[in-house]
Amino acid sequence: MRAITKHYIDGAFVDSHGREVMDIVNPTYGQVIARVTLGDEEDARRAIAAAKRAFAGFGRTTKEERMEVLRSLHKAISARTGDLTKTMVEEYGGVVQFAALIVQAGADVFLSAEKALRELPLTRSWGKTTVTLEPVGVAGLISPWNANAFFLCMKLASAVAAGCTVVMKPSELSALQTRMWLECVHEAKLPKGVCNVVSGRGDVVGAELVRNRDVAKISFTGSAAVGRSIMREGAATMKRITLELGGKSPNILLDDADLKKAIPNAFIIGFLNSGQACVAGTRLLVPKSRLEEVKQAILDTLPAFPVGDPADPKTAVGPMVNQTQFQRVQSYIRKGIEEGAEVLAGGEGRPPGLKSGFFVKPTVFVNVTNDMTIAREEIFGPVLSVITYEDEEDAIRIANDTEYGLHAYVSGTDIQRARRVASRIQAGRVAINGMLDDQQAPFGGFKHSGVGREFGTFGIEAFLEPRAILE
Ligand code: NAD
Repeated sequence: MRAITKHYIDGAFVDSHGREVMDIVNPTYGQVIARVTLGDEEDARRAIAAAKRAFAGFGRTTKEERMEVLRSLHKAISARTGDLTKTMVEEYGGVVQFAALIVQAGADVFLSAEKALRELPLTRSWGKTTVTLEPVGVAGLISPWNANAFFLCMKLASAVAAGCTVVMKPSELSALQTRMWLECVHEAKLPKGVCNVVSGRGDVVGAELVRNRDVAKISFTGSAAVGRSIMREGAATMKRITLELGGKSPNILLDDADLKKAIPNAFIIGFLNSGQACVAGTRLLVPKSRLEEVKQAILDTLPAFPVGDPADPKTAVGPMVNQTQFQRVQSYIRKGIEEGAEVLAGGEGRPPGLKSGFFVKPTVFVNVTNDMTIAREEIFGPVLSVITYEDEEDAIRIANDTEYGLHAYVSGTDIQRARRVASRIQAGRVAINGMLDDQQAPFGGFKHSGVGREFGTFGIEAFLEPRAILE
């Protein structure tokens, strides 16, 4: 049995002051594989103090020095991508194909941040006025469990590029991944105290970061409920805040969409990370006139997205992260049926042959209306809702009729038309014809999906504060 008992503070692995021990359960088999000792407020305060000391020097480094740090981090993470992928599969059941991609994206994000930093002017002047963009100070980085390695890399990259020092509080469900990731960071030999990590509960370690007056900025990825509480609590110390929250993303199939491509894409987008993705396109908007055709295409395509062992490269959908998440998805499926949606595929219960672990059946609902619970709330599992629309205007109306606005997808053959529709969607990102990414493009949400943006120059600016000197 592995035991994670240390945090990473001031450039060293140190014993936890907090004594609470939590089991790490492998979601594929439902067995305890490790124990993690959770930090407490005192651990958080030690880490904040180390970050504050380090900021005195690191906050004054040059662009070139920070670009060098980003390159070292890229090198250190790249050296262990295989191990990180394996741990992600083991600890949270991420399917191996997805885990490998996301870990690689995590390594790459340091080079993307290096490029963005190179291009970002940190000084501007006119007349006798000079404006410099200054790092805000110590940043608290709080992240969820669903793509841990990536969020750790992405948040650290932007903060370090800006010249901030950090205290990170990853999800308590990610202790093994975090430990391996930290070994890489240690190899990168950052100045002591620039990157500190404390494992622990959100309402203990996370809450201390949010309330502590020595933390200037919180960058949070997680649920809207916790995001709201961070905004409220952070107000007392006037925190700068970035929130990356949930989504209920629409995927609009225009009436000229090629179903041979659009339906497999709808599954890639909808079942991404076994549906445990903030960007999952879980509302499939289909022209009424093509519903029967779409239903047939869904039934023909679904077998190509099998559920099972996440370590098997053929698997598309792995287990849910834990028992709570398993039950949450089951209850949404039940709710969908109760509210009158029709199960086209999947449904309640475990998939045949998968008796242990937290597996759910990949599920597609039809006869869904946009006011049903399954169309409004984030399920965070492999559950797709097919909603019909009358015409283009109606599709846009339904797509925007949501509290969220993180991501959207549009599929169609006429690219001009697809662009026109995309330009009217209230979402931070709209991808045309597939699941796409660009690490220089801003990422973040309209409406309840968040505040602020990450990635590229937008992500670095979120850790900077302009100072004007006038002579
Ligand atoms: P969560 O909100 O429960 O937890 C996220 C993090 O916040 C964890 O580290 C948790 O310990 C911490 N936390 C909890 N309570 C806190 C408090 N009071 N103060 C400070 N920190 C606290 O979310 P989760 O279940 O880990 O992740 C799933 C959610 O994250 C989904 O809603 C999903 O959409 C969202 N998410 C968003 C993005 C994005 O980029 N927009 C990406 C991934 C996940």
